Amino acid sequence: AAGAGDPNLTAAVLGLTRGSGKTRSNAPSGFRNEPDTDPALPANRAWGSDILSRVEGSELGTAEIAAAAVPDIETLDRIIDGVARAGEAWGRKTGVERAEILHRAGRSLAAHRGRLVEVMAAETGKTIAEGDPEVSEAVDFAHYYAERAKELDTVQGAIYVPSKLTVVTPPWNFPLAIPAGGVLAALAAGSGVIIKPAALAQRTGALMVEALWEAGVPREVLALVDVPERDMGSRLVSHPSVDRVILTGAYETAQLFRSFRPDLPLLAETSGKNAIIVTPSADLDLAAADVIKSAFGHAGQKCSAASLVILVGSVARSKRFLGQLVDAATSLRVGYPSDATSQMGPIIEPAKGKLLHALTTLGADEEWLVEPKQLDDTGKLWSPGIRTGVQPGSYFHLTEFFGPVLGVMHARTLEEAIRYQNAVDYGLTAGLHSLDSDELTEWVDSVEAGNLYVNRGITGAIVQRQPFGGWKRSSVGAGTKAGGPNYLFGLGSWVNDPGKN
Ligand code: GLU
Repeated sequence: AAGAGDPNLTAAVLGLTRGSGKTRSNAPSGFRNEPDTDPALPANRAWGSDILSRVEGSELGTAEIAAAAVPDIETLDRIIDGVARAGEAWGRKTGVERAEILHRAGRSLAAHRGRLVEVMAAETGKTIAEGDPEVSEAVDFAHYYAERAKELDTVQGAIYVPSKLTVVTPPWNFPLAIPAGGVLAALAAGSGVIIKPAALAQRTGALMVEALWEAGVPREVLALVDVPERDMGSRLVSHPSVDRVILTGAYETAQLFRSFRPDLPLLAETSGKNAIIVTPSADLDLAAADVIKSAFGHAGQKCSAASLVILVGSVARSKRFLGQLVDAATSLRVGYPSDATSQMGPIIEPAKGKLLHALTTLGADEEWLVEPKQLDDTGKLWSPGIRTGVQPGSYFHLTEFFGPVLGVMHARTLEEAIRYQNAVDYGLTAGLHSLDSDELTEWVDSVEAGNLYVNRGITGAIVQRQPFGGWKRSSVGAGTKAGGPNYLFGLGSWVNDPGKN
């Protein structure tokens, strides 16, 4: 079954996933999650205003290019060979030695919290409330993988052989946590790393890399590149010295990488089309808040976001729950992150393609419960949209849009709701709001997604507590979940230890 034995689920059922329980730890190593900044403390509010005063005036999307653009294939090849060589030496360090540098990297990232939040806001439109936890997640990755690196030294009966070179290609939507996760995992696993930050989030990626260099990660072992040309991009992922590529992005991008090099060892977390089911037994107040947060946090630009809510039986028939969604969505304050009152920020680029279609066009039988509005002439600022009447098998049901638009579906039974939830090609996150243990068992036994959340929103996986990874078309290549106990094991090779057998 999808979630059986899954720490996500266990944590969720025990209620450990909510609120201030965040720093609780059950790791033998004593790993503790880095707390987010508490906005209730006056000193933190002053810290936030100071950041916002600097964000104002920065033009979104016109950030200076931080990574030096690689001019030609020969230069790229030289960088690749250099990092692979340095990576070999890095891999000869023990896990314990690497762990020490990674812990320093975690402290360095934490020390740059304010600047990181500021640059993310200026560059990608992330509000402080969304950017601050991302710094915590990056710090968590450093300390968590540091501890996991030590375990690589001591596996019985097998010798761990690190990769020499890992390429990390992150997306712009989590411009810090996702690149940090890939880079820190590969470094912990003893590999040299080349990171190519997303074109729309170069400055954040560069700042992260600088924080790691500052902490003592050798520059030869960790290189930052910008490969503006497609042929260089294909060279970067298909060069024979590249042992592995860690990608987070669209399913199509993973396919493209595979077309460059069919035998490429790829570890990719790809697209999602995620739903939350709400049954009549649910705490509807909690469910409404979690649906809104999951659908409209970072303006819906998360692979993990809720794009659908599936209402079962009487929840669908009563007006109460829909009324709560309307109230919550229409009271969300939409604006740029430089305005401290903004709860939902802009989308990263003017709406186009599938997203523009989803914001402006209804399918058969659908109607707007809350009609999205374009709020200024940039094309980036939209109020949230909620459509009802989404039909099974329809375009909206099956397509990923990656923006602030939520569809409501109705199901007669939980079984039918699960069928709708599973009907999509992807399987990244899935939610259930229910207070009935039989429903919980039924759902867990049949839902097809990598990350299951019960009575909680479906975004914001926390390192160690909710290891994160996809299923079906939300995952391409081999590998276990990021922020989980086995992630590093898949980043190198294993040979039998004749001395120990
Ligand atoms: N890890 C993020 C979360 O749990 C999602 C990452 C993504 O959008 O790819 O919300």
